[in-house]
Amino acid sequence: MEKQTVRDFQPQGKRVLVRVDFNAPIQDGKVKDDSRIRAALPTIKYLLDHGAAVVLMSHLGRPRGKVVESMRLRPVAQRLSALLGRPVPITGDPLGIGTRDAVARLKPGQVLMLENLRFHSEEETNDDEYAKTLAGYGQLFVNDAFGAAHRAHASTVGVTKYLPAYAGLLMESEMEALSALLDSVQHPFAAVIGGAKVSGKIGVISNLMDKVDAFLIGGGMANTFLVAQGFTVGKSLLERELVDEAMKILENAEKHGVDFLLPTDVVVAKEVTRGAEHKIVPVNKIPNSWSAVDIGPMTTDAFTQALEGAKTVFWNGPLGVFEVPTFGDGTRAIARHLAAKAEAGATVVVGGGDSVAALEELGLAEKMTHISTGGGASLEFLEGRELPGIAVLLDREPPAKELKGAKSPKPSPKTTKPQTKSTKPQTKSTKPPAKSTKPAAKANVA
Ligand code: ADP
Ligand code: MG
Repeated sequence: MEKQTVRDFQPQGKRVLVRVDFNAPIQDGKVKDDSRIRAALPTIKYLLDHGAAVVLMSHLGRPRGKVVESMRLRPVAQRLSALLGRPVPITGDPLGIGTRDAVARLKPGQVLMLENLRFHSEEETNDDEYAKTLAGYGQLFVNDAFGAAHRAHASTVGVTKYLPAYAGLLMESEMEALSALLDSVQHPFAAVIGGAKVSGKIGVISNLMDKVDAFLIGGGMANTFLVAQGFTVGKSLLERELVDEAMKILENAEKHGVDFLLPTDVVVAKEVTRGAEHKIVPVNKIPNSWSAVDIGPMTTDAFTQALEGAKTVFWNGPLGVFEVPTFGDGTRAIARHLAAKAEAGATVVVGGGDSVAALEELGLAEKMTHISTGGGASLEFLEGRELPGIAVLLDREPPAKELKGAKSPKPSPKTTKPQTKSTKPQTKSTKPPAKSTKPAAKANVA
């Protein structure tokens, strides 16, 4: 079901509460990587340009319900202020009386940011009172935090009990790019899956099984498949308890006629550390006391060849321990190949914190068709699960099946606009008529 977005209401003169994912890495009081902040700019600018007053809220790190000085959002606000070219004041405490006053003074075109939502444990427990207080800071709610959409927290799900909820532009582009992979993908479609463990990726592999033409498997998780095929992997990372599961996946792929490419050669190292002795071996010659740390050159060639005709590629998970530059050849080669494919017109979608970090390091992120900002969220989405933070957003009315004289099959902004008369929309009466088949109450217990 399509969701309503910021374009479906009239922002002029409204105070809009916006959940963003500003969980950026902070080092020495500075934002180390501002990509998450930049990703939210289109929504923030859109709202400001259209005359809204914007109240931003985000979490940062895992303070576990306590004020942790190093997890204050001030560096983020400073960075955002530089990017927006206007001041972004930050409140002392999401619950403080000062916050209420600052929100009340906020004028159209102005931005305010709440302090780290997770300084209160009520955020993660999706406490109703906490959600109600947050909801009191806006007349409408916009969720642009795709990276937090798989969590049913006060700021992603709780507030929607009190405010009409819309998708931000980043949320919209994430939903579009990822649902295209599931619903309307252009074939041939290949999924390159790597990373440390199979356990985190089984759901995605299973859900993509009847959608892809080929799986290309690398990284630590390949070892479990290699063992399922009868190879030994020495000291390599292995999830022995999942070997049976891996076997089932291999059988399933055969049943579905899906190519399932595993490494045929690997880089093995005596230790998984910088400067350790390492060499390239075929997968039937992994020494007992060595670890596989990257795909080998033969495998890289086979993978790039298999990707040759692909019109769509999804990539999640580095193909080796890329944090050690010597073990990053496979990851870098595939990243470059995919960037070239995207430039040549293929659809290339990349998800996963570490995969995206690898791309950023190479300066290739911009070249891809879509980079998902949500690691866990994008995987859960591709597992076919409904994310709680998305389920509670207002549905777009399906195009009218029969035209009862009316000419516009698309709902006009006026008819879909929820009734928000009060500036303190804390009562149920301000909630728009439930159009969703999933009532908010159900999402609350998720
Ligand atoms: P993403 O964040 O892109 O989803 P993951 O978190 O699943 O990726 O996996 C990334 C981690 O996998 C990296 O820290 C990398 O070092 C590790 N990894 C990749 N290949 C191997 C390997 N052969 N052995 C051990 N760890 C690996
Ligand atoms: Mg990761």
